[in-house]
Amino acid sequence: MKSILRKTASKLLNFALPLHCTFCENRDELSLKIGICKKCIPLKSHEKKTRCFVCKSILEGEVCEYCSSRNIFFERLEYLSIKKDWETNLINKIKFQDEPLLSNFFRMDFKKKWKLFQFPKFSFLTYIPSNRRTIKNRPLSPIHSIEEILEKKTGLKLKYMLNKVSKENQSGRTYRERFIHAYSSMEIKPEFENKLSGNILLIDDVFTTGATMNETSRILLKNGAEKIYLLALLRGE
Ligand SMILES: [Zn+2]
Ligand SMILES: [Zn+2]
Repeated sequence: MKSILRKTASKLLNFALPLHCTFCENRDELSLKIGICKKCIPLKSHEKKTRCFVCKSILEGEVCEYCSSRNIFFERLEYLSIKKDWETNLINKIKFQDEPLLSNFFRMDFKKKWKLFQFPKFSFLTYIPSNRRTIKNRPLSPIHSIEEILEKKTGLKLKYMLNKVSKENQSGRTYRERFIHAYSSMEIKPEFENKLSGNILLIDDVFTTGATMNETSRILLKNGAEKIYLLALLRGE
């Protein structure tokens, strides 16, 4: 409740006062919308690396090491940006410094990107659940910035379909531990048990090891979904 009040107050404040860039205090028409000025938006570098069609890992040889070393339960991952230092800093500012406006960064060019993804028709939109501690520490999930556009594009409501079982947070664990931990860290909510069908779009803020998204895909398939497509705001390099 407190955080809602604070957010509303800061929204009103931002409306009344011109908004400065969170990174450099500069002010321009972009900083008014997303809290970042044009100067502070990183230049888009045209990537020359080839990425795996399914998981978007950088391909070293012909075979994707990621996909060939485990069971992949999703059809394809798409992402909005590659997570470099700047993007990591941005997402931390959104999550931990209560800068909700910054998440509008992910709305930039979203419609154009969505078109390029060429996703099929979906029957459900869902996202990775957070545990209570995380929700308390992160008053606003960065994916809320694209929720409205997503719902409009798909004609579906974003649904909370899974519960997190584990009380422990994924970050701070080693790579190996994350994979082991991913198993049984979630369960389907009773109302969706064996009631899923068609294609499902699963959304999360960051795809790093992909362990959680892959395991969530498995649970969704187990409960009747046909194919799972992933959308991450950021993908680890
Ligand atoms: Zn700036
Ligand atoms: Zn792959």
